[in-house]
Amino acid sequence: MDPEKVIDEFKQTGALLEGHFQLTSGLHSNVYLQCARVLQFPEKAEMFGRALAQKFANAGIQLVASPAIGGIVIGHEVARALGARFIWTEREGGEMTLRRGFTVSPGERTLVVEDVITTGGSTRETIEALKSAGADVVAAASIIDRSGGRVEVGVPRVALATLKVLSVEPSICEACKMGDPAVKPGSRGQKA
Ligand SMILES: [Zn+2]
Repeated sequence: MDPEKVIDEFKQTGALLEGHFQLTSGLHSNVYLQCARVLQFPEKAEMFGRALAQKFANAGIQLVASPAIGGIVIGHEVARALGARFIWTEREGGEMTLRRGFTVSPGERTLVVEDVITTGGSTRETIEALKSAGADVVAAASIIDRSGGRVEVGVPRVALATLKVLSVEPSICEACKMGDPAVKPGSRGQKA
């Protein structure tokens, strides 16, 4: 799937907004991503899932695992396209764990899938949780990589589209210097 087509789908559904945003972290950014807004359309989730699955068609993936909540919809679609099983990890006392009676077979060939990878933190934690449970984690994937391709998670990693998103402290924000007020996307994003 062409990265431009992926970005177009995000823009059309308001999942990717361009402008001057104040993120929940307090940093200012020129891009705001809310994957849930594109994944609310099952046919789009299915399309992204198939496109990611295609990259692992011959990898013998038996299990797809995703961090909750953001990874669940896309992970499920990737698993469906691969004919694999699907489970998710979630935080318990701050630690990413398998709950709900989910189990992993020793050496089960596993792909970890997220909607968007930013720092790689939740993907790495999910990989660790799966490895601890005995899985053979062979790769990681996301729809969007917003690290500009920099993030390393210890296994080969792919994304359908890569963005280099600028996030800065308000004190050094160029848009602020031009007198442009920063928008909190929660308020504007939902009206779009
Ligand atoms: Zn700013």
